[in-house]
Amino acid sequence: MSEENFINQGYIEGLLEDAKNTSDAEIQRILDKAERFEGLNHVEIASLLTTKNSAYIGRIFSIAGNIKRHIYGNRIVLFAPLYVSDYCVNRCAYCSYNCGHEFGRRKLTMDEIREEVKILEQMGHKRIAMEAGEHDAECPIDYILECMHTIYDMKFENGAIRRINVNIAATTVENFKKLNDVGIGTYILFQETYHQPTYDKVHVSGPKKNYAYHLTAFDRAHQGGIDDVGGGVLFGLADPYFEVLGLMIHNEHLEKEFNVGFHTISVPRLCPAAGMNISEFPHLVDDETFERIVAIIRLAVPFTGMILSTRENHAMRKKLLQLGISQISAGSSTEVGGYAKRKRNEESNPQFFVNDERTAPEIITELMDDDYIPSFCTACYRSGRTGDRFMSLAKSGQIKNVCLPNALMTLCEYSTDYGDAAFKEKAAAIIARNIPGIANEKIRIKTQNNVEKISHNGERDFYV
Ligand code: SAM
Repeated sequence: MSEENFINQGYIEGLLEDAKNTSDAEIQRILDKAERFEGLNHVEIASLLTTKNSAYIGRIFSIAGNIKRHIYGNRIVLFAPLYVSDYCVNRCAYCSYNCGHEFGRRKLTMDEIREEVKILEQMGHKRIAMEAGEHDAECPIDYILECMHTIYDMKFENGAIRRINVNIAATTVENFKKLNDVGIGTYILFQETYHQPTYDKVHVSGPKKNYAYHLTAFDRAHQGGIDDVGGGVLFGLADPYFEVLGLMIHNEHLEKEFNVGFHTISVPRLCPAAGMNISEFPHLVDDETFERIVAIIRLAVPFTGMILSTRENHAMRKKLLQLGISQISAGSSTEVGGYAKRKRNEESNPQFFVNDERTAPEIITELMDDDYIPSFCTACYRSGRTGDRFMSLAKSGQIKNVCLPNALMTLCEYSTDYGDAAFKEKAAAIIARNIPGIANEKIRIKTQNNVEKISHNGERDFYV
């Protein structure tokens, strides 16, 4: 299939129709395969999506929980979005940045970037997702690169922002090369919808209207040297089962072409936003379907990180952490300059309204109360473990020997720098409880020593 039409609407619709007739024996075989952490192909995924048998659905949830525990343990990676510019030339029906929506737009100056980053650093963040609308004149690639330089150049007593993931519009191979040169973490782009008629309808005008160009952005990112790419769809625009198959076929396309699929998958659900009316969207995804979809994606791509944002409420985030989510945002603002505005108690004007408004410390403390290890790890890309190198380590199970120690050392750093006495006590207990779980003896001893150096000598930034 040519690069541009690996998504075929008729084929996906046919698959979903045929999948309804999957035999019991075949579903059992698919579930057994998922249970062995072998991942699933898109035909198998279609069968799981369409089954209505509650026993099978129960098994899907239970396997998702097993995969989560076995591959990711109890670690949860934390990050925060940083919106740098809301100028946009696109007219997207779901987004408040829609150029037809009038409000005072702006982009951050480098001083404002520093102000936002300082607040994020005070929250303990080490990993951010940089976000911007699409506007070649107001927000050209050079501006994005300058923001990244500014952020990476900032050094604080407690460390620095060590990984910048970037979520900006589909661009050229040349621009991806530039992003790669300044040390992008993951290039994140949501297809929004794989269903082209819906894509054409909701993207009323602007460069984003070009479905094929948007769809092939990750191919160009790879050609530009970026091998960690993160996909997603905006659930609520089209049939969610169609979207999951689109995502999975996209993943298979990347595996075939570049030997590595998505590094992460995000699962944003449409939220109310200024300038749009959510009741006009006919495919909003209910909670039960959403949970099932997250679990099925977990079965399909067991080694791909799954990201959940504050679009979801506290209860849903808690539930989905058990079913496969491995990264969450905390203390987020979805507005340009939003962290400084929040600090000054100014009224916000977000890209969309978030549903988990707890502070970062509240979220991080609750994670520990629920026996998770909040992780601020950014080691993989700093150690060159990206793309297929990361995936082969993940698939062999060896990644655990680095993820667990890194999670514990970064939690120790966070606790030392930002925790009050009660927090420090909880974190110390979690660290002590989990160190024996590091299988490799040398790394276990090193982690124990580093934890002591962090908490007693004020040393920082250990990672393996
Ligand atoms: N401009 C970039 C692009 O063209 O893809 C992306 C940056 S945008 C700030 C990040 C994402 O926000 C979009 O890809 C979209 O999925 C999501 N988004 C937009 N409106 C939303 C809404 N009303 N509810 C939830 N997510 C929304």
